[in-house]
Amino acid sequence: MTAAASPALVTPPTDPTAGPLSVPSALQLIGNTPLIEIRKVRDGVAPRVRILAKLEGFNPGGSVKDRPALSMIEDGLRRGKLVPGKTIIDSTSGNTGIALAMIGAALGYPVQLVMPGNVSTERKRVATAYGATLTFSDPLEGSDGAIRLCRSIIAADPNRYFKPDQYFNEANSLAHYRTTGPEIWRQTAGAVTHFVAALGTGGTIMGTGRYLKEQRPDLQVVAAEPEDAFHGIEGLKHMASSIVPGIFHAEQLDRTIGIDTDDAYNMVYRLGREEGLLVGQSCGAAHIAALTVAREIEAGTVVVIYPDFGDRYMSTNLWRGWQPNELPGVNGRQA
Ligand code: PMP
Repeated sequence: MTAAASPALVTPPTDPTAGPLSVPSALQLIGNTPLIEIRKVRDGVAPRVRILAKLEGFNPGGSVKDRPALSMIEDGLRRGKLVPGKTIIDSTSGNTGIALAMIGAALGYPVQLVMPGNVSTERKRVATAYGATLTFSDPLEGSDGAIRLCRSIIAADPNRYFKPDQYFNEANSLAHYRTTGPEIWRQTAGAVTHFVAALGTGGTIMGTGRYLKEQRPDLQVVAAEPEDAFHGIEGLKHMASSIVPGIFHAEQLDRTIGIDTDDAYNMVYRLGREEGLLVGQSCGAAHIAALTVAREIEAGTVVVIYPDFGDRYMSTNLWRGWQPNELPGVNGRQA
């Protein structure tokens, strides 16, 4: 025996000869994302409390939004609202747009996206690479400005468009009720005690939370929300200062935890360095909320959604000005 790391510490990659050899399209790769145990960024959490992160970046469009986008498009097709000749249009802060663009490309429908002009360059380019047309709203008006501009575009030519309308379409949260929730229940063998997700449309937390509570009524559903209106956590909404999504029902949450943008960014730096998980800003926010609830209990299983990976944010404020600090293990952003 050598002094090398114990083989038990290293899990080999999945056997490439196992499982189905191919799937008919990218759409079949949506969902069934992995859960990973967070072992290091635990900050005083009791040993009998597990923190498990669901890595939604493994969806083919790169985020959790593949699930509701597919669900809303399938619903539109089923109801005859989306028919050949129509364009799929929506206002989106980014990930939903990328998901719609990917699914539109796979199904052969044109996609037009209305987004605030200041969303990350990577997101704009990715959506364009899937063939979508982009229209930009005033960055100062945030996601509400994109919602308003999208409404006026549709009003000018109503028959031309199919609008999935993620903020008001129950097929958004139903996607999570039908897939994310059951996956977590199965992946934890029913052990999940707390479910944590960050708030955008609220679809993830509403649908997943409802499913998990039906299985286990004492399960706690915990939301992470930006602390103030002018935050830098892409994809999230500060509900008090926003148009509240029709699918969001605050009374179904057990708790909401306010998150500071800099704290979320610092958590992203730590997850990269300490766990080997390079994730997006909202994952940092969600992880802070997960730690807050995990620290308060003696035993349990906290499942937290990590909505996407971090590589599509490299040009955003998250990484701009960032430098590794001279103190080992400590990173920061320079002014
Ligand atoms: N994080 C990111 C990066 C997102 O794009 C979104 C969706 N806007 C969310 C979190 C929140 O998801 P939901 O819309 O289901 O609340």
